[in-house]
Amino acid sequence: MNKILIRNAMILAVDAAHGTQPFAGDILVDNGLIAAIGPNLIPPDGARIIDGRDRLVMPGLINAHTHSSETFFRGRYEGMPLEIWLLYAYPLLMNDPIGKRLLYLRSLLLAMESLRNGVTTLCDDFFDPPAHDLDRLGTVFRAYEDAGIRANVSSAAMNIHTLDALPFAREVTPAELQNLLDFGPPMTTDAYVDFCKSAFDSLHGRAGRVNFMIAPSAPQRCTPDLMMACMELAVAKRVPFHTHVLETRTQAITGHELHGKSLIAYMKDLGLLRRNTTIAHSVWVSDEDMSLMGDAGVSVAHNAISNQKLGAGIAPVRRLLDLGVTLGLGTDGVSSNDTARIFDVMRVAGLIHAVSGPDYEKWVTADEVLRMATIGGAKTAMLEHVTGSLEVGKSADLVILNLRSYPFMPFNDAAKHLVYSENGSSIEKVMVAGRIVMEEGRLTTVDEAAVFAELAELVPAWLQEHAELERRNSVFVPVMAEIHRRASLAELPLYRYQGDFPSKSV
Ligand SMILES: [Zn+2]
Repeated sequence: MNKILIRNAMILAVDAAHGTQPFAGDILVDNGLIAAIGPNLIPPDGARIIDGRDRLVMPGLINAHTHSSETFFRGRYEGMPLEIWLLYAYPLLMNDPIGKRLLYLRSLLLAMESLRNGVTTLCDDFFDPPAHDLDRLGTVFRAYEDAGIRANVSSAAMNIHTLDALPFAREVTPAELQNLLDFGPPMTTDAYVDFCKSAFDSLHGRAGRVNFMIAPSAPQRCTPDLMMACMELAVAKRVPFHTHVLETRTQAITGHELHGKSLIAYMKDLGLLRRNTTIAHSVWVSDEDMSLMGDAGVSVAHNAISNQKLGAGIAPVRRLLDLGVTLGLGTDGVSSNDTARIFDVMRVAGLIHAVSGPDYEKWVTADEVLRMATIGGAKTAMLEHVTGSLEVGKSADLVILNLRSYPFMPFNDAAKHLVYSENGSSIEKVMVAGRIVMEEGRLTTVDEAAVFAELAELVPAWLQEHAELERRNSVFVPVMAEIHRRASLAELPLYRYQGDFPSKSV
């Protein structure tokens, strides 16, 4: 395989020795891996030489949480909290699943946008109801193989009726609407575990970089036996147990309504807080929840933009970090974020935590945000031995940025430029597993113009069908609005960490 030598670059390794302090040097890439980092490396015979002068080389960014199923809903919604938005982006009443070609293109588009913007690994919590279908999951895998990106892909599971996973729902939903949601018995735990085992056998590790991960949607949406079986399998296969916890205030009420305790305490009691556990959101956690999470060594995917778009709140990132929780950054789906750009999430994550209290020494720093976007994200994906930093022996997943550009002109501090100034426009080359997937302003793996042309031809008709589906599902809006209203008024049984303001009141 190709050897590549990047010469005389500014290297931001995010490794144990250098952290986010850049240093000058060369990087030798051989057989997909970083073979050497240091000054004046001798180019092997036949190596391609990349001039690194005025260039910054950094680890590829990790998108720790997204959903490819939302890719066609970019720029479609606003002004809705999660519980109402879900009716449109994840309708309760469904059409037939999206056709195979669009399914492929939808994931491909997500991977293309990610690579163009420096994301070399994405964690796709793929949601494809009503069935779990190996052939359809394989189509998503194929899109990521073809695009050249590294990915963890799930087949998101839930087996509890929506109305039993929300507080007040049975009470406030009229009988005729409840009848519309009678879809028969849910999937059994054995059936899902069998499906996951076949996914591990036939898809996991495709192209050496596309993996299967286990994703029970949320503790209130899955039975204990399903979640415990998922954890057992995730631990055995060393993959993430990827789930959503305490995103909204409604969910903060849910644990107490259903189990008399917070959803985190509930997970702890079921043995679901482990090193493998990756929690998307973690907005409405209490001090006690965060202690349990830190003690267990779980990870959190922090979706700073999505949490604002859906009015969910601000995750207590400083406290999570202090208690030993690993943080990664996620866009969440392209509907609740409207892009797949981690650089945007970095900027927002670098800014928003300054409003969590007057103790400015506790504000989240650019250095911390950069770690979340790289090595932290790799840990949330259980891939820290493969990617997330520039180290000899790791996969050559990296981004080369032009420092002769507005975000770096004039140059001060690499981490602060990357978090507060860069928006992806300085990216010159992107490499995944030693293969250059983006250079000279275009992807090398995909014909972008051809994909755009096909999307422009095929997607409008599908969106028209989706608009009709939105109309059918809008009958549930008053129900969700009432649940949201009641949850916003309900007293929270536990103190929720609300930042470090001197007067703490809920
Ligand atoms: Zn999500």
